[in-house]
Amino acid sequence: MRAALATADDDLVVFDLAGIEERYDTLIRELPDIAVRFAMKACPVDEVLGCLARQGAGFDAASPQEIAQAIETGVPVDRIHYGNTIKSDRNIADAYRLGIRDFATDSIEDVAAIAAHAPGSRVFCRLATSGEGALWGLSRKFGCSGADALRILERARAEGLVPAGLSVHVGSQQMTTEGWQEAFDRIADTLAALNRRGIHPDHVNLGGGLPALGYLDRHGQPLEPPLDKIFEVIREGIRRLRRVSAVPLDFLMEPGRYFVADNGAIRARVSRLTTREQPDGQRRTWLYLTCGKFNGLYEMDELQYRLVFPTHGGAEYVPAAVAGPTCDSDDAFGSDGDLVQVPRAVASGDPVWILSSGAYATSYTTQGFNGFAPLPYTCVDVSVEGLV
Ligand SMILES: *Cc1c(COP(=O)(O)O)cnc(C)c1O
Repeated sequence: MRAALATADDDLVVFDLAGIEERYDTLIRELPDIAVRFAMKACPVDEVLGCLARQGAGFDAASPQEIAQAIETGVPVDRIHYGNTIKSDRNIADAYRLGIRDFATDSIEDVAAIAAHAPGSRVFCRLATSGEGALWGLSRKFGCSGADALRILERARAEGLVPAGLSVHVGSQQMTTEGWQEAFDRIADTLAALNRRGIHPDHVNLGGGLPALGYLDRHGQPLEPPLDKIFEVIREGIRRLRRVSAVPLDFLMEPGRYFVADNGAIRARVSRLTTREQPDGQRRTWLYLTCGKFNGLYEMDELQYRLVFPTHGGAEYVPAAVAGPTCDSDDAFGSDGDLVQVPRAVASGDPVWILSSGAYATSYTTQGFNGFAPLPYTCVDVSVEGLV
């Protein structure tokens, strides 16, 4: 496999299925009380979904297309939920026809539509969070206030739906324990208020947000999220909610990034290393890669990735801005001042591994912007580090 990858001409994403299984096992060991619903958008790759399904995961799907793909893995349909609060009448009817009975919601309008097109279903009301502490906050567009949650779940009950649960998302790549604390505060208050009104949700969905471990921040420094402390806060939060609730609670979680980011790497090539005088009179070195923001590295707005140049061990390095191959100036990282150390001697065609790039790599990709096609992928059973 190693030899085949070293000689492959084209860029590709490599997913380490054994590593994904290991992350799954770690999560269940740390949080034994939760059931996993993998957020498909982070890696809608059949082999990855199949691997997680065999481990016992279900799926958080956001469209009828994702639901159909989840069903293909063979998981029972009651382990798949429609986790998107945004859906048309037709989306709801299609999901219901496919057998889906669990729906996320955050508005009266959506609940009325679920009642009309998926009668008798179970609804999970998503509470808004601030998204503070996360690289991507997911605030504003999703989730309602506690007061709205009361209205929404009362309406659900009146319409013959089952007010089954509350959900949150603390923001993607949540770096703090406070982000989780805030979410538990909000769920606890809302749960107590619902119970006082005679509504007894028996599920809490803690969403995604668990961090990848291998990213660099925008300045090239390791991100180092406090994962052990985050698990501790989640365990304590679960105990607290169990004390608050009038009925026994089941807990779900929808990790995406946490499973796949560090278990995927892109094997690309150097397009060219150049040095040019910039408009400010300074000379700057640029490393252009054969892939970029529009086919695999979409999240380079908030991140830098670890780069490995397997044919240049221990070489002399120069600071460079790193960029993808397209005619778009957003297709770059490190260009606003925080440069990346790259081997001075790299030549066009040299291989480069881009580590911790497995999350959102295949889903956030354009259909050939400037002719640069989506990356193909392959799945292996050895650690990505072993290949590099
Ligand atoms: C994107 C998303 C997730 C996964 O988020 P990560 O930060 O990748 O773990 C989970 N739940 C919902 C509803 C989402 O939209």
